[in-house]
Amino acid sequence: MNKNKVKKISKALMDIISEDKIILDADILEKYSRDETSDVSFKPDIVVRADSVKDVSKIMKICSQYRMPVIPRGAGTGVTGGAIPVQGGLILSLEKMNNILEIDKENMIAVVEPGVITGNLQDAVLEHGLMYPPDPASLDSCSIGGNVSEGAGGPKAVKYGTTKDYITGLEFVLPNGDIINTGGKIVKNATGYNLAGIVIGSEGTLAVITKIYLKLIPAPANVIDLLIPFDSLEDALNVVPVLMLNKIVPSTIEFMERDAIQLVQEFIHEDNSWKDAGAHLLIQIDGSSEEMVMNDLHKLSNIIKTKYEIMVAESKSQKDRIWKIRRSIREAIESTSSVFLAEDTVVPRAKIPEFVKDVKDYLNSQNFQSAIFGHAGDGNVHIDVLKGDMDYAEWQKILPVIKKNIYERAIRYGGMITGEHGIGLIKKDYLGIALSKESIELSKRIKAAFDPDMILNPGKIF
Ligand SMILES: Cc1cc2nc3c(=O)[nH]c(=O)nc-3n(C[C@H](O)[C@H](O)[C@H](O)COP(=O)(O)OP(=O)(O)OC[C@H]3O[C@@H](n4cnc5c(N)ncnc54)[C@H](O)[C@@H]3O)c2cc1C
Repeated sequence: MNKNKVKKISKALMDIISEDKIILDADILEKYSRDETSDVSFKPDIVVRADSVKDVSKIMKICSQYRMPVIPRGAGTGVTGGAIPVQGGLILSLEKMNNILEIDKENMIAVVEPGVITGNLQDAVLEHGLMYPPDPASLDSCSIGGNVSEGAGGPKAVKYGTTKDYITGLEFVLPNGDIINTGGKIVKNATGYNLAGIVIGSEGTLAVITKIYLKLIPAPANVIDLLIPFDSLEDALNVVPVLMLNKIVPSTIEFMERDAIQLVQEFIHEDNSWKDAGAHLLIQIDGSSEEMVMNDLHKLSNIIKTKYEIMVAESKSQKDRIWKIRRSIREAIESTSSVFLAEDTVVPRAKIPEFVKDVKDYLNSQNFQSAIFGHAGDGNVHIDVLKGDMDYAEWQKILPVIKKNIYERAIRYGGMITGEHGIGLIKKDYLGIALSKESIELSKRIKAAFDPDMILNPGKIF
């Protein structure tokens, strides 16, 4: 971006907010040039760390006046390039707005600023006997604002839903600086258009979220985790609908195919599972009493037939041991191949076995090393494809072909191209595979109504 324009804007910002919130230092700007997306970075011109809604509103007014691109940023753990400034501009970091404003036990609502780390909120409400269920695998580092903006989900979605199911109100700032409030500590609301519903999952392209009202539920008193090896992925996945039909709804049903497990075992050097098994299910059962949980466990052991021993985890250290496998998959992949493709397609639950087989056969036919794992309970299938030692130029050339092949297969099985990571930068060229021309046009008109000057997170989604 033109240096004079950047100078003028930083000067204008210094007149309205304190100087220590404005960052122009090249080394720090560099750190904001990427998120957790593999192999993408663009440097911002300015970073501003806002600490109040007033700051956000003033910053947006200035940027609107100068037509400066603004990229809202939470914790930067996104994996679709959502917080990356593709056209330069100003990164509006919400990391300092990280206060839990209230935990209202009577109404079972938490009121939080967007920069609160998801896991911190979960721990804080648990002290009151309450639970905030959405649990992205990144919960120790991602922010609630980022979760709302991406419509983040996690393993517990099968029983408890995703972030969007817990939002009862939002405060957000429009590109022109106007502050909008919707909903509040109310679980029902039929007043006018559902504006919060439009902002949820809008990936920082419509408004900057500055306050969030979240529904809480009583924390289950008993929770057990099971790691179950199977001969094949098909055997593992076929169990899922049978459990549901037998009225067992686990709070988590994660699957990991053999290649994913092997990568993790090599990475953590720990033999937590059976190397020769074709797949594993990680199942969590919870309930308000020990009796309820034991009943489900009993029913489940009668349904599941496997020649392997089932690992049952009741204590925290046992649970940590088996969850380490699931939570280490990404790191294991990064350590094997620093460049890789991470997809999160979603298909109807009953279609997972066919879909996974189809995708795996395709990737094997192209000689790609891949790891497939994900949320068997809600149909969200993670497909990671490793570049390995392929020549970089060749990888760049083949990448769009692999993506298209995976997305087209997901649509063919009645699914979508992303279940929780969003479109961001890296999937925008493929939106037309998933959405009709008419719905993309309507979405663009909504974007124009919120952001007529197109300054908020340009180059994303469309
Ligand atoms: C190891 C690992 C595991 C992961 N596991 C999961 C998982 O299980 N489920 C899942 O859903 N995701 C997962 N993710 C992806 C990521 O953590 C989520 O997308 C998360 O919601 C991003 O939050 P963040 O605070 O880091 O957002 P950022 O990366 O900072 O931003 C993400 C998007 O939200 C926008 N945004 C951020 N804050 C605001 C705000 N206050 N107002 C408006 N827009 C805003 C940004 O502009 C950007 O478009 C994982 C990532 C990693 C690295």
